[in-house]
This record gives sequence, structure tokens and C-alpha cells, in this order.
Amino acid sequence: MNDPTSAAAAATQAPRRRTFAVISHPDAGKSTLTEALALHARAITSAGAVHGKGDRRGVTSDWMAMEQARGISVTSAVLQFEHRDRVLNLLDTPGHADFSEDTYRVLAAVDCAIMLVDAAKGLEEQTRKLFDVCRHRGVPVITFINKWDRPGREALELLDEIEREFRIQPTPVTWPVGIAGHMTGLIDSRDPDAVLRYTRAPGGERAAEEERLTGEEAAALGEDRDTALEELELLAATGAVHDRETFLAGKTTPVFFGAALSNIGVRLLLDAVVDLAPPPGPRELAAGGHRPVDAEFSGLVFKVQANMDRSHRDRIAFVRVCSGVFERGMTVTRAATGRPFATKYAHSVFGQERSSLELAYPGDVVGLVNAGALTPGDTLYTGKKVEFPPMPTFAPEHFAVARPMDIGKSKQFRRGIAQLDEEGVVQVLISLLRGEQAPVLAAVGPMQYDVVAHRMEHEFGAAVKLEHLPYNLARATDAAGGAALDASRLVHGESMTRVKDGAVLALFPNRWHAGSFEREFPDHPLESLIAAH
Ligand code: GDP
Repeated sequence: MNDPTSAAAAATQAPRRRTFAVISHPDAGKSTLTEALALHARAITSAGAVHGKGDRRGVTSDWMAMEQARGISVTSAVLQFEHRDRVLNLLDTPGHADFSEDTYRVLAAVDCAIMLVDAAKGLEEQTRKLFDVCRHRGVPVITFINKWDRPGREALELLDEIEREFRIQPTPVTWPVGIAGHMTGLIDSRDPDAVLRYTRAPGGERAAEEERLTGEEAAALGEDRDTALEELELLAATGAVHDRETFLAGKTTPVFFGAALSNIGVRLLLDAVVDLAPPPGPRELAAGGHRPVDAEFSGLVFKVQANMDRSHRDRIAFVRVCSGVFERGMTVTRAATGRPFATKYAHSVFGQERSSLELAYPGDVVGLVNAGALTPGDTLYTGKKVEFPPMPTFAPEHFAVARPMDIGKSKQFRRGIAQLDEEGVVQVLISLLRGEQAPVLAAVGPMQYDVVAHRMEHEFGAAVKLEHLPYNLARATDAAGGAALDASRLVHGESMTRVKDGAVLALFPNRWHAGSFEREFPDHPLESLIAAH
């Protein structure tokens, strides 16, 4: 028998993997779609975690239960399932209205994203931000236009909007027969003579049956079908046809229509993940060159989560396997320090359930328990040293001074703040004017402060007072630039040092103040911190 831990096994298993995330605006139907995908496919990681078809309490509700228990959505769990002999890893992105660095980091660990669009609402703010990150990271995007069972916008108009606003060409793979709210079926552009018709089973069953109609049966759908075929032809004539090369290059996005709630078009989307999404490939290294999937083990820590499970006080580092085979118990090296890390407690993390994991291949995600030393962006490897490029840090737009509610708890306070900085929950800055006793917490989204307040109180036993500062813009400068800003009476702003890497940041209320700084101090150019936009 072949050795399941060999390079050959990694080379065989990697092409079987599809690792992806769903990006969307809240309420577009991400949880519903996740559940529908998992029910359609066979969840393999933890038997029993996905309940029966008619049961709404599926795996996504486990995520939600966890969020509710914590009061906030802070998890990024992973769902693994099989479809057509492929292993799909669906990474959850936190689904709250606000966005945070966590979501961005998840996108560093996937090979493809499904952009979920509400047919009635079209493109929304959060989708736009996440799409920008995909573009920046070169993650190819498949589009799913959801809620076609309800009145909504016109299909062509939605495609126009995607093209105009996101500057990416939509290439429909499926096309709806009937306008939103009056859907009779879908046409698969690769099989245009047929219509896939969906009928809701009576008695409240959720999943609609899919039937393939051809010939007279398809023709009997009349005008709706004729219109759909005409539209598809029109689109094909303008070149809006799926093309693998431009899709992988981020220039086109294959588009699918459906309704996650009634299971319409979900199978076709799953097939698309298998057929269109790229498998794990060679990964870029910081020093140049690439790490092939059949090299020795390497992995990227993309998320660190403390105390996911209330009954075990621990920290889990989520690692995406990039090359080779991960075996539980193996000792890996952390590139940042050169120190070994034992992986005795490795889990595949599935909703709230944990199952011990023995082997993982490129594309899979492993949760390492007791991962005290690991931080997002870390590379782990065996053999010769390798390191992936650093995770982009995002330009924070919110700043708040943190102080302990109870001065007697300052030790717990310092420990908690240091830990949250290390995990990347917020970035901690020290202001020269305010001193170390009053660290400034910098966040990409204000929800990050809720997480801080909650965890500081419940986990570290040091409730915090937060004083929000009137700054919304951070730029990088040097120490002399920072000093000039602090001394200036003309420019409103303040300099701070980032604890994590010692970078000096200049904070301003807005870009006009940054502009006046640059005019006032031309010797201290400001650099943008923005990596994602
Ligand atoms: P999330 O916030 O993106 O995770 O969205 P949810 O999955 O919680 O869905 C938000 C709402 O939209 C819920 O009430 C869902 O039942 C509903 N929904 C999701 N998908 C569909 C769909 O295909 N059709 C209809 N009519 N409603 C849907």
C-alpha cells in the first residue's frame, strides 16, 4: 500500500482538495448556503454533527450557538465535506455586520471564494470590501446570485452592476428561467437544450427536487425559456463565457443563480467548486520562489482563537496545510523563532465538535491546541527553513485608549492586552504622549472593541474603559516624523508606536490633516499602511 504520509500522497491528495470561503454582506444567505452545501455533500469530519435534512439545526447553527454563547461572532471554523470524490474545505468568515481583520486573514488561507449576492439588493458594502481583498490577494471568485425565489432585480442588470462596480467580467454559467420571484428553472449554459426544473416538495420539506427537462417538456416552459436562451446567446455574443484562464487570473467571475433556502442551484454551485475552483498549488515564499505541494510539510497560521471551548481554556491556532502531509504528533518548526512546536493536540475543527485528526493534506485546515506561541501569519515547517510572506496588516481606522476599570487589576489588564495584541484581535499602539499605562487599541472595524471588552472582562478578569480617539487615518512615518507631529501646533494628529513591530504611525482625523502634515514637513513623507485596497 502507498504510504499515506509520503510526498507522493501529498501530490495525489492536493489535487483532490478545494479550499474556499463564502464572502457576502450579512443576510445575503451565507449561513443558509453553507448549510445547504454541507447537506448536499457528505460531511466527513465529524459524523453526527450535521443533522438530518429536515432539521434546521445544522452545522452552521453550531457556529451560531458558539457565537451566541460568546455574545459575539469571533470564530472562524472550518467545515470539511466530500463531493464527487473531492474534499472540500469551507472556511467560515465571521458574519457580523462589521468586518475585521479576521475575515481578511481567512482569505489568505483559501484558493477560491464564492461571492454571494442577494438578488434583490445587488452589491453591498461588505461584499465590496471582501471582494477587494480577494482581488488584492489574487483569489479567484465564483459568484452566486441568491434568493431568486423572491422578487428581485433583473439578471442582466445584476451582471452589469458587477462589471461596472467591480471591474470584473461576469460570465454566466447558469441562467434563470423566469424573473426573480417567478423562477421556473435554470439553464446550464453547458447543456443549453435542457432546463433544470425545481419543484418544492409538499409538506414543508426544504430541499426542492431537481429535474432535467428536454425536448417538448423544456419547450413547454414557453416564453420564459425563450427569453432565457436569448439572453444567454446575447451574453455569449459579447464574450461573457466562462474561461478558466481569465477566471484564475481574477479577470472574470463565473456566475450561478439560485436560492440557497430551497436548495435551488446549490448542486450546480458545488459542482462548480469541484470543476472550476483551483486545487492547492505551489505557494509563494518570502525569499522568492515557490513551495510545491509535494515538498515537506509547511503550513500557514491564519487565525488564532483563544478559549473556543469553555470547558477547555486553551488557544487554537488554525493552520492551513500548504505542502506535504501533516501528521498528528509531528514536531514542526516555527519560522519566526526557529523553535520546535509539538503537535500532539491537533484537531480538525468542525463547528463545536472536535475530532482528533491524524493526517492532513495541502488545502486542509488543522487546529493546533495549546498553541500559546503561535500568531497569525506564522509559517510552520519541517526540514529546511521556509517562510511565507507576512500576512498583510490592514490600516486601522478606529483608535481607542484602554484603561482598566479597576486599577487593582492592572497586572491582569497588561497581560490581557498583550495577549490580544499577539493574537491579532487588535493592534496595540503606545502613544508617546500618553505612555504605556494607557495603550491605544487600533482596529479595522469597531466590532473588534466588543471582542476586546468581552474577553478582557470574562477571560482576563480586567474589565476595560475605552476612550475613543478622534482619529480615522493612520500612516507610517519615521521616529523624527512622529516627533515632528507631536510637537506641531499646526497639524492635528499624534504619533504612536506599534508594539508588535515598532513601526511609528502618524494618526490623523482625516486625510486633509495628513495632507497638511506633508506640506508642513516635506522631509517626513507619510506612507500608506493600506494593504488591501
Ligand atoms: P447570513 O447573514 O448571510 O448568514 O444570512 P442567512 O443565511 O442567515 O439568511 C438571511 C435570511 O435570508 C434568512 O431569513 C434566510 O432564511 C433568508 N434566505 C437565505 N437564502 C434565501 C433564499 O434563497 N431565498 C429566500 N427567500 N430567503 C433566503
